[in-house]
Amino acid sequence: MVSSMSEYFFKKQIFNSYDELNTLVMRYEKYEKQKLFNRNRIPLREDDENSEENRNRLIYKTIRYECKFGKNYHGSEAEVRQTNYFKRNCPFFIQINKPLNAQVLRISTLNLAHNHPHVIRKKL
Ligand SMILES: [Zn+2]
Repeated sequence: MVSSMSEYFFKKQIFNSYDELNTLVMRYEKYEKQKLFNRNRIPLREDDENSEENRNRLIYKTIRYECKFGKNYHGSEAEVRQTNYFKRNCPFFIQINKPLNAQVLRISTLNLAHNHPHVIRKKL
């Protein structure tokens, strides 16, 4: 299943804070009934050209969101059994970086296509 989610995320999209990004991710999960996990988060360091205010606002230098059914998914055995009919290795990802000399977070690359149906059936 390929969905076009450009109303949520697109290349070079800019976020003025981690909160703004996180709010959109939660909205995406809720309305698209998918579950994303962030991986490889690297926090901004004190010596990274950033004021304390910027570090508190942006928090991360790099964040990668992947689908619950992405290749790095390691659920509990029960969870894996329960969801066994889903295809694995979902290619969905969103890679976000803080560009040099810009006090924002920006989507550098992404793939919004899931290879399985919605994963959340219960209410969030
Ligand atoms: Zn997926």
